[in-house]
Amino acid sequence: MPHSCSSRAGTPTLCAKDSLSLLERSRSREDLPVVSSGTSARREAMSASDAPPSAARRANMARVGSKDTKPELIVRRLLHRLGYRYRLHRRDLPGTPDICFPSRKKVIFVHGCFWHRHDGCKRTTTPKTRASFWEDKFQQNVVRDRANMERLSHLDWVAMVVWECETEDLEELTPRLATFLREDP
Ligand SMILES: [Zn+2]
Repeated sequence: MPHSCSSRAGTPTLCAKDSLSLLERSRSREDLPVVSSGTSARREAMSASDAPPSAARRANMARVGSKDTKPELIVRRLLHRLGYRYRLHRRDLPGTPDICFPSRKKVIFVHGCFWHRHDGCKRTTTPKTRASFWEDKFQQNVVRDRANMERLSHLDWVAMVVWECETEDLEELTPRLATFLREDP
């Protein structure tokens, strides 16, 4: 997905070219995920000028690979509460993982069930109109996700997928996250 690297109102962004220097500088503020994201300001600006906030927000959240979705914020908040430090949206890694733990070489994707086709999930529906268009689109998403996982694995990164529907049960999700981050790769 196209993603502007320009910063607005001094909000820092995480671009591939400066990610190394940011990696050093951001260590002390990795516990401030919203500040280090740089996408919130852009979304607020968009919703203020282009459309009513709720419509713009819905459109933004419906897109594949959209950032700062509600499920993602839930996972980030949970990780923060557990005391983990992370970085967001590493564009220099395959698939731009939503949440990244550089020292552990682990990443977490928070996937929307509909767009990323959570197998067997009640949210994995297919629109009745233009069904073949949607099938193609979904297939592309699944293939892309799988390729990104393989590329990450080749780079010795360990990836975990948290599905949108799984963020509704924090009692189940919390130990899973803790185990994933504790285990040796
Ligand atoms: Zn699901």
